[in-house]
Amino acid sequence: MLNAELSFRLTQLEKANHILESVAEGVSKLDSRGKFVEANGPCTEMLGYSTEELVGLPWQKTVALDHLDEVHRACELAIAKRGKESLEIQSIKKDGRRFYQELTIVAEHDDADRYLGLYWFLRDVSERKRLQTKVAYSAFNDELTDLPNRNLFESHLKKALSNAFQYDSIGVLTLDLDNFKLVNDSLSHGDGDKLLILIAERLRLSTPQTAIISRNSGDEFSILLSGLSGAEQAISLCQNLLRRLQEPIEWAGTEFFITASIGIAIHGEDCSTAEQLLKAADTAMYEAKAKGKAGYALYNASMNQNISARLELESHLRRALQLDEMRVYFQPIMDMKTDRICGAEALMRWQHQEKGMIYPDKFIPIAEETGLIVSLGSWVLIESCRKAQQWREMYPEQNFVINVNISPRQIQEEGFVEEVAAVLSETGLDPHCLKLEITESVMMEHVDATIAKLHAIRALGVQLALDDFGTGFSSLSYLCHLPLDNVKIDRSFVSVLGIEPESTAIVKAIISMCQSLSLAVTAEGIETAVQSEQLLALGCDFGQGYAYSQPLTAEQFEEFLGAQFDPITVEEDNVIHLDFAAFHDDLAA
Ligand code: C2E
Ligand code: MG
Ligand code: MG
Repeated sequence: MLNAELSFRLTQLEKANHILESVAEGVSKLDSRGKFVEANGPCTEMLGYSTEELVGLPWQKTVALDHLDEVHRACELAIAKRGKESLEIQSIKKDGRRFYQELTIVAEHDDADRYLGLYWFLRDVSERKRLQTKVAYSAFNDELTDLPNRNLFESHLKKALSNAFQYDSIGVLTLDLDNFKLVNDSLSHGDGDKLLILIAERLRLSTPQTAIISRNSGDEFSILLSGLSGAEQAISLCQNLLRRLQEPIEWAGTEFFITASIGIAIHGEDCSTAEQLLKAADTAMYEAKAKGKAGYALYNASMNQNISARLELESHLRRALQLDEMRVYFQPIMDMKTDRICGAEALMRWQHQEKGMIYPDKFIPIAEETGLIVSLGSWVLIESCRKAQQWREMYPEQNFVINVNISPRQIQEEGFVEEVAAVLSETGLDPHCLKLEITESVMMEHVDATIAKLHAIRALGVQLALDDFGTGFSSLSYLCHLPLDNVKIDRSFVSVLGIEPESTAIVKAIISMCQSLSLAVTAEGIETAVQSEQLLALGCDFGQGYAYSQPLTAEQFEEFLGAQFDPITVEEDNVIHLDFAAFHDDLAA
């Protein structure tokens, strides 16, 4: 009988051992003094001991010091309840490494309710814990740049505001990269990411160590400055930051530049809470963009009105073409050697129903940001080519070239080259009579695709001019990279010709460089006869400016052409000058 019972118990034990060994999780048994008496394979593996080493070891050896009390309490509870307790702890392996485990403690009592010991069920949850930590990390950090995200930034800001000393200022900067979409679109996904990491690094290096920098979204960052002496300090920091950001970036064999617009908000009456400061910095950043980018703006209350006025303008601009409010003006371009008109630049105007005439500096930035420039630009292109063809038919003997400004957004557009070709065939304009003006900002997407498009445009026979040369980040070496026919020297150099010796030197250098590259040079914004004489002496080919004519409506421009080309009015070269003067007097009247 005894034997039968014994053999029954043995089979039970074998069965239990078998189960113990086959379960995936660690199972161990502890005696009433808390020492290991049995452990299955997964358990010894987890803890890094052999079964022999583990047996006889008190459980305290396998639990991290800071979790001892917790485990002790759980054991007592399980025993008292005659049930089980679960908890998450950090365990210690034999080699001292810690790992997270989920521990379930089951107390064992015999039939007479005598306490026998404990079963410990262990599960390694390090992976789950790692994922949880990662999720928690990404809730507050930007994984790409390792910077805090907007949530964490806000909580730092709130903390800084509550700890701020009475005499310290707190400043918030919102920084948005200019035209980053263009750059990003022209890079591979991985390169775009690398660029953002590089920018984050530049931000880190050009801000005080105490500053907190966050990446809010794609190309927007915030910077928290505490302990400021005042707005001036924030401004000088911004200037430094902008300089640092604008340093050339070497990428895939080419050099390009990134600029940013920064909004500054300083803790004060209008901006006392974190929300107000953040909103104010955003508003100021939009103001900096509207002022022409690559700069900063300090928040003031009137900016809110500007923003709503801008939003209103933007929504109206969307309908301006349908409402027939857009106009093209034409500014004559003169051949400086012959002093005769040789073309015109098409300049867009917006004849707003209520606000009257709006100039490009007010609406082109909005059109570029919203993408409306694509449809507006297409419209200007076809209108200008149509007019140019009319004037060529009126004066077939004359060389006449129409210049049309093209925004980088348009060039990026798929099918742009085809659009130019279609406009030429629809209007019948000889391709050589069309000159597209591009700006150096196309260099931000200075990639093979853009260069290939520019080559394709030139292959149509269309000419290309680089506009506003000398502003922004002009590098004479750009002149060699782009397929160009013409360079237009920016007005800012022309207006100080003879006044600032270094400007004269720059103009001279640009002209001789262009001559050696066989590029024609146009000077913009010539306002006086002295300027035009100097430019002619320096070897400038074409000139444009109020000295000759302001931008004109198509009708006025036709009169201007007539004054020059109609044989009745023009007999000798010097008569032309007199006619211009009379013509402008008429205009002024
Ligand atoms: P831009 O292409 O450099 O055009 C020359 C600007 O200088 C024009 O201003 C013109 O009116 C002005 N200007 C010409 N001569 C003189 C002068 O002697 N003195 C002074 N003070 N100014 C002179 P506007 O028409 O206001 O155009 C400003 C800018 O807007 C243009 O600069 C161009 O970048 C852009 N823009 C104009 N029309 C278009 C367009 O159809 N498409 C695109 N994408 N941009 C355009
Ligand atoms: Mg232009
Ligand atoms: Mg220009």
